[in-house]
Amino acid sequence: MNNNLPTPDDLQKSSVDLCNIYAQHLKQHEVKIPKVKKYNQIAKSIWLAVLHYYKGEEIHKDDISKVCQRDKPGLGGYQQVRHLKRDGWHLTSDGKGNHLLDPYKPSPEWETLKKQKEGILNAKTFEDIKAAYDMRCATCGTKEGEASHRYGEDKVKLQRGHKDPSKPITKDNIIPQYQFCNRAYRGDYVFDDKGRVSAIADVRPVRKASETVQQKVFEWLKKRFTLL
Ligand SMILES: [Zn+2]
Repeated sequence: MNNNLPTPDDLQKSSVDLCNIYAQHLKQHEVKIPKVKKYNQIAKSIWLAVLHYYKGEEIHKDDISKVCQRDKPGLGGYQQVRHLKRDGWHLTSDGKGNHLLDPYKPSPEWETLKKQKEGILNAKTFEDIKAAYDMRCATCGTKEGEASHRYGEDKVKLQRGHKDPSKPITKDNIIPQYQFCNRAYRGDYVFDDKGRVSAIADVRPVRKASETVQQKVFEWLKKRFTLL
């Protein structure tokens, strides 16, 4: 635990300094930064200001929480500092609550994701799409040409997975999927770019649902389609 937490003045300066570094090093990578004037406007801007204040040193999340409670009371207890990674920040954590920020480059996951997006955007063939996904099934990560222990396959072959079965199979409506992931869903679901289910595409999943869920769906649909 740190007993000498930075003052609000320290943190405002840290926030401005981080903004400058961001403009030079991270903006071009489209890392997301909170658009705030004062460091203590939202939780994320406080986290970043504190992390950056400790340049090159680890800081424990409990200390970040202390600053949050001091400078923006009412933010609540547990601080999910690691969520900054989703915005592209290069944050490393030791699993014990200590965090370290490198403000000069985006997180490796962010760069991989960006490369993938560009790859999909520029893809001309299914081979290009597969390459954008590192030759892996978007849903389970199984690699083409390798063995799948899960399904006892010697050599996995990726198939064209239909992202949204209600729309034609065009370049931007395809994800590479291992046949077992592809077949298992049988056109029942809509997938996002990460191969995760984002909606249902047919009535089958509702038919297979429990009566409690069907009742919920029914109530919602009644409201949705009732003419006022
Ligand atoms: Zn799969």
